[in-house]
Amino acid sequence: MKIAQNTVVSVNYKLSDAQNNLIEDGAQPMVYLHGGYENTLPKIEEELDGKEVGYSSTLQIEPEDAFGDYDPSLLKVEERSRLPEPLEVGMQFEGMAEGSDEEPTIFTVTEIADDKVVLDGNHPLAGMALRFDLSVIDVRAATPEEITHGHVHGAHGHHHGDDDMDDGEGDHFRSQPLN
Ligand SMILES: [Zn+2]
Repeated sequence: MKIAQNTVVSVNYKLSDAQNNLIEDGAQPMVYLHGGYENTLPKIEEELDGKEVGYSSTLQIEPEDAFGDYDPSLLKVEERSRLPEPLEVGMQFEGMAEGSDEEPTIFTVTEIADDKVVLDGNHPLAGMALRFDLSVIDVRAATPEEITHGHVHGAHGHHHGDDDMDDGEGDHFRSQPLN
């Protein structure tokens, strides 16, 4: 079966930066619903469209097609007292970026001083060119339910619990390996 709109694609992948430093070794395959559901990067869909099991490729994706350029205005310095304890570098908090009334931003703690904390609202992979080694291991037709929901169900996919019946936004599994 060829990869097309509304197929579920399983891909073994390895993610490196442009200098070939390994970022993620893809111990679990990425499984996503193909066809513009934003389950994975559009460039990956473009590369795999029309391909079949056994296809492999190395793809370099520039920051503007991945997680955007690094935006220094998303760095914030907060009073440590405004953040919960215990606090560690690498912890993430949801917050609103300055002057933004859009979606909340995920901030990562990048530095802790005595009474100040540096929070970075950039995606950890912002500003980086990414290299994906991709290898297609499975392609199947999506179920009507998966198409309606816009994501994959079953192994490695989205699991609906009892309190998840409305399938609302927010806690959807993203097959994308990067967040
Ligand atoms: Zn679902």
